[in-house]
Amino acid sequence: MPEIAEVETVVRSLRRRLPGRRIRRVDIFDEKLGALDATRLKGRVIRDVVRAGKEIVIDVSTPRSPLWWCIHLRMTGALLWCDRAQPPSQRHLRLAARLDRGALFFFDARRFGVTRLCDAPDQWAAPGVDPLAKNFTAPRLAALLAGAKTAIKPWLLRQDRLVGFGNIYASEVLFAARINPRRSAGSLTPAEINRLHRATRRVLTKAVECGGTTISDFADCEGESGGYQHQLKVYGREGERCKRCGARIKRLVQQGRSTFFCSACQR
Ligand SMILES: [Zn+2]
Repeated sequence: MPEIAEVETVVRSLRRRLPGRRIRRVDIFDEKLGALDATRLKGRVIRDVVRAGKEIVIDVSTPRSPLWWCIHLRMTGALLWCDRAQPPSQRHLRLAARLDRGALFFFDARRFGVTRLCDAPDQWAAPGVDPLAKNFTAPRLAALLAGAKTAIKPWLLRQDRLVGFGNIYASEVLFAARINPRRSAGSLTPAEINRLHRATRRVLTKAVECGGTTISDFADCEGESGGYQHQLKVYGREGERCKRCGARIKRLVQQGRSTFFCSACQR
């Protein structure tokens, strides 16, 4: 599932292509997306593309009529920009937006992706702190963690505190910070919180630089796969050697999700 680094990758690739383009028409091929009033997008010029948590937000506002087109990729959604009006394939095609030059196609094999229109920023703004934003600081993280009773790994997946984390980066960040995923989130010392903050910034920044992680089929809007899967230290490596201490990587299940970690060097 695309996490914060993958969605950021898609947003950056869309930002290179979309701003200034006018939407000529939007066709929906899946009744699950039928609630989207695509006629409201017709004729609008794309001003910018931003990310709110794991949601892609396309600003199509005019001075008199603010409007944002939001797309959440969920499990298998993908956006592909083409300089031709025809998609490279009809398979899993759910929506096509023809622009004055090129087109944007939304593919989604499992159909969990969602799209909606928002008339005000507070309708799309993410409720938690974005770990790639400037206001994500160690004191801010400490304040978010204070009093939390759940284990730190599932805590990272809550989208109302920090936004954007999924299963891959939650395991990777805790490994980088040398924190055991079973630790109670509220029990971290100031030194551990500092390590967690630095590790979060470092891992996510690097993952975005690599164009995200491609485990099965993630790609940016030009079909380019990510490269961070080659840098993963623990995720998907159960039974293999820890790259830091040589012990075997373990897997445990927390709240129904797999966690990968090294019990020897994550305390
Ligand atoms: Zn280790």
